[in-house]
Amino acid sequence: MTITDPRPQPERHADADRRVRGVVSKLVGTRQDWRLYRPVAPQRRPRMSWIGPIVVAVSVLVGWFAFAGAAGKEGDPTLGFFVGAASIQLMAWSFVLAIRIKWLEPFFGGLDSMYRVHRWCGSIAVVAMFLHTQLEPEIRGGVRGASRDLKDSAEDLAGLAEISLYVLVGISLVRIIPYRFWRLTHKLLGIPFIFASAHFFTATKPYANGSAWGLWFGAFMVAGTAAYIWRVIVNDMIRRGAKYKVVRTRRVGINTELQLTPATGRRIDHRIGQFAILRIHHRGLSEPHPFTIASHPDDEELRFIIRDLGDWTDKIGAADLAGVAVEIEGPFGRFEPFRHDDQTHIWIAGGVGVTPFLSALPTRSQTMPVAPYVFFAVKSVEDAPGLDLLREAHRAGHIKLHVFDSSAGQRLSIEAISAAVPPGQINGAHVALCGPAGLVRTLQRGTIGLGAQSVEVEDFDFRQGFGPELSREVEELVTTATKRFGTP
Ligand SMILES: Cc1cc2nc3c(=O)[nH]c(=O)nc-3n(C[C@H](O)[C@H](O)[C@H](O)COP(=O)(O)OP(=O)(O)OC[C@H]3O[C@@H](n4cnc5c(N)ncnc54)[C@H](O)[C@@H]3O)c2cc1C
Repeated sequence: MTITDPRPQPERHADADRRVRGVVSKLVGTRQDWRLYRPVAPQRRPRMSWIGPIVVAVSVLVGWFAFAGAAGKEGDPTLGFFVGAASIQLMAWSFVLAIRIKWLEPFFGGLDSMYRVHRWCGSIAVVAMFLHTQLEPEIRGGVRGASRDLKDSAEDLAGLAEISLYVLVGISLVRIIPYRFWRLTHKLLGIPFIFASAHFFTATKPYANGSAWGLWFGAFMVAGTAAYIWRVIVNDMIRRGAKYKVVRTRRVGINTELQLTPATGRRIDHRIGQFAILRIHHRGLSEPHPFTIASHPDDEELRFIIRDLGDWTDKIGAADLAGVAVEIEGPFGRFEPFRHDDQTHIWIAGGVGVTPFLSALPTRSQTMPVAPYVFFAVKSVEDAPGLDLLREAHRAGHIKLHVFDSSAGQRLSIEAISAAVPPGQINGAHVALCGPAGLVRTLQRGTIGLGAQSVEVEDFDFRQGFGPELSREVEELVTTATKRFGTP
């Protein structure tokens, strides 16, 4: 069938030009898309969440002593060996952190922080591998890990591993690749790890594989491989979450509210500010996605507020989900809107970043331990998620609400916060922030500068990276192509 466009030719050309310009400007992105955020200095007081990253760093750094003093064929091979081993260990950590081990959360400060360390481990592992291949360490009189033939074959595989690692980690860092394709490529990362481990195991090194050092590094290789297999097979294909079903949906501007009830009596116990991973049993929605639980822990039902952001969330808004089964994995996260009752509490939310704070609002006979200052930045009040609940809590005296509507020219800034909170109260306060990265980083820095004692941040993005998000455009392209050429 030929589809003809009835519009005159100049109009069609102008339309095509507009589309091309739209695609090009989306591809180029905005300055914000490409911005590298400087890490905010950690708060001075030691916290339990430092333990995880410190253990990761120390476990890698001690590896230096396995190679120190080794005699090389050309120069000192210590650094070359160390960076090679460090690359394997960091990749192993990266896999272990990706399997969402709940009991590790306190040592890293929550699952989102574990994913942050996971990304850093992966990125540094690639740099370390590159350095290793440049230094090409060779040892005089070392211990061979396997026969020469095996060693040579493993070395060839390691060459393949190197290239695929550059490509796969490169894909991970650039957001232009839509999430659902990125997720598939990300699952392949275990293969270069296994190849690189085989090379490390069979290579000639200063120690034998059966020695203490051999067992130390071997443990990382085994743990990394096991974690990879667990993640790809058990987590993604076999494991099932708690069974819920959708009892109500409500559309508020660009947000969809889902109200869920347990389908089998088994319900998840969550704390304020936690999130869960939802797998919705509906055509086109089975990909698991993380969302904050916006209902109070004492509520019978679970509430989620989902903003239309990309291809999957768009489908949620359009689908009829009443009665649909949902599997819930979790809860996860250590985001703490409340700290000590004698502190001033300041909550800062941008758009749908308000959800962790909504879970703290009392319903029925519940009470709040303190009345926090809530600063809520929204694009427009019509689209603001949970604004009715916040206003109700404000009227009841549970919170002190300040809304900033950017469509009306209002801007949430550190000056606006210090003007609203009485002098001296920010000093020593507990601040919790959730929202777009730019807003969060600026106000995190600003409130630390004003003397806040503790600052909590929740990232709504496990992936992170550079460049514009193109999933919607790619989805449209795939749908158009499928309509035109038919489904394969
Ligand atoms: C801890 C946490 C809590 C969140 N809470 C909320 C909430 O309460 N309300 C809300 O509206 N949004 C929340 N989000 C964001 C939400 O998960 C994404 O907006 C949604 O998954 C985007 O899906 P999409 O395919 O429509 O968008 P896309 O345009 O495809 O993706 C946009 C970005 O969302 C992320 N993303 C996409 N798919 C997934 C996935 N399957 N798993 C993980 N991340 C993905 C990726 O970083 C991607 O780059 C939360 C995210 C996290 C990590």
